[in-house]
Amino acid sequence: MDYLLEAKEVVKRYGNYTALDHVSLAVPKGCIFGLLGPNGAGKTTFIRIINQITAPDEGSVFIKGERLSREHIYDVGYLPEERGLYRNMKVGEQALYLAQLKGLSRAEATKRLHGWFAKFGIDSWWNRKVSELSKGMQQKIQFVVTVLHKPGLLIFDEPFSGFDPINAQLLKDEILELKKQGATIIFSTHNMASVEEICDEIALINKSKKILDGKVEDIRRNFSDNIYEVALYSDPERMAALASQVDILEENPCDVPGLFTLKVKMNAGAGHGNPMLETLMRYGEVKDFSEKLPSMNDIFIQTVKQAENEK
Ligand code: ADP
Repeated sequence: MDYLLEAKEVVKRYGNYTALDHVSLAVPKGCIFGLLGPNGAGKTTFIRIINQITAPDEGSVFIKGERLSREHIYDVGYLPEERGLYRNMKVGEQALYLAQLKGLSRAEATKRLHGWFAKFGIDSWWNRKVSELSKGMQQKIQFVVTVLHKPGLLIFDEPFSGFDPINAQLLKDEILELKKQGATIIFSTHNMASVEEICDEIALINKSKKILDGKVEDIRRNFSDNIYEVALYSDPERMAALASQVDILEENPCDVPGLFTLKVKMNAGAGHGNPMLETLMRYGEVKDFSEKLPSMNDIFIQTVKQAENEK
């Protein structure tokens, strides 16, 4: 597997407190990787290490197989959660300044910035002072500045906070487009719906330790609790018989005569996959049958609670 970023047994201590405890992560090239965890878990500390704002006490980090060094700074774009622009500077002037810090020439930065401003329909902001922009508008500028130098690795910390749904969608689409163009993206958030929507893989950190990682799809499948949504043409008699085979968790009202829409949990005797479907077919005509995988939100809560109980 081709990894853009690998962290091996990373340890970070602040005095007596261990903020990262032997954390190993591997982020495949070209994926959107969710870095998840409760407040205080150590996510920002890990991101700061990748950005070389701070250094690990033990362990090592590799980008494209090379040990992390100063040269990599230009290949990383970081949008921190706590973001600030100079309030009294003009938007264009400030964006140009920040772009040049990331190694772009003034001419190239000007060209690219005008391209992004046109794309977002914000050309008229160029000569306005930052203090005249709303928080969401400032975040848009910061997003542009983060991606402008086309780094191979992009790190977004809660990128959608402070955005209205329309602008959050705009940003989501841009993030997916950047992935399409080949960028690798690390994305830290508490919004599990957006994780399901855009992340390919995740790592869950709790109290300085990694407690879960892998592909979102595999994780949801591994946490499957055998719950299915079913629509079945049947009758009350056969439905009563079905209830001895499966746990009917919910029966939703349905206008169509003879159609029962249910949420069921199959017990062990009902089998898995096709055998489970066969069980249902004995009690009616199956119109719809789909597994209801647990949400990332449920998995997050369950895994963190379990880790707490194991202590
Ligand atoms: P997260 O981003 O997951 O919310 P952080 O990485 O910010 O977590 O923090 C992890 C822990 O490390 C917290 O308990 C925090 O107080 C502590 N910490 C972070 N930075 C410092 C620092 N510079 N000095 C001392 N403790 C710190």
